[in-house]
Amino acid sequence: MQKPKYKRILLKISGEALLGDKSFGIDHQIVKKIVEEIKEVYRLGIELGIVVGGGNIFRGVIGQEKGMDRVRADCIGMLATLINALVIQDALISQNIPCRIMSAFEVVKAGETYIREKALKHLEKGRILLLACGTGNPFFTTDTAAVLRALELNAEILFKATKVDGVYDKDPVKDPTAKKYDVLTFDSALEKKLKIMDATAFSLARDYKLPVLVFNILESGNIKKAVLGEKVGTLITP
Ligand code: UDP
Repeated sequence: MQKPKYKRILLKISGEALLGDKSFGIDHQIVKKIVEEIKEVYRLGIELGIVVGGGNIFRGVIGQEKGMDRVRADCIGMLATLINALVIQDALISQNIPCRIMSAFEVVKAGETYIREKALKHLEKGRILLLACGTGNPFFTTDTAAVLRALELNAEILFKATKVDGVYDKDPVKDPTAKKYDVLTFDSALEKKLKIMDATAFSLARDYKLPVLVFNILESGNIKKAVLGEKVGTLITP
């Protein structure tokens, strides 16, 4: 059997990655594909927590721009992450993968409330954890929630799975000469003013020395490569 490089991983899936070609909502084919890949790595015996974003459904900042109260808008954004978590849970269960939703908000009919000790127990028992509703606080992002949960749950690394295949020196969509980095340190990323995560998430990961691997989740086989420690995306090291 192939040997995973990591035992406990925190995977952050951005809401955008679930969009497919849509501009809003969920592409169920993409969810199915991601879950099939998760199943493959789960079989390698890793412990996996997943923080899901909600940007494919709602972002607080957009609500605010439309005149909403920011705190209420962020509540909607956090609930959007719960919708995504339920969709992923459904796909995991259909593949017979044991999993639990733990939410930063109390949503007792949809999942358990996040309690660190209980979360650790689920991981130890081999259950995939879907960590919903971000940090449970407005003005934060699910990237910050992902770093926070990775640190609380003693994950060795944060996999930041998105629609781009790593960190570039320029925007690769606008500039074809853009160069991708294979490895970066937090300090060099800061010096080069590279946008990897929002400032809160970035500084938390940097301060507490949590490595972050940024890669494209939509490219087949990437999750497995990442788990096996093969070259994929951009690794940001302390
Ligand atoms: N959100 C929040 N607190 C958190 C995490 C998320 O208020 O701890 C809200 C915020 O409004 C955000 C939305 O939930 O815009 C969706 O999360 P995010 O934008 O991080 O999702 P992603 O970009 O990863 O899809």
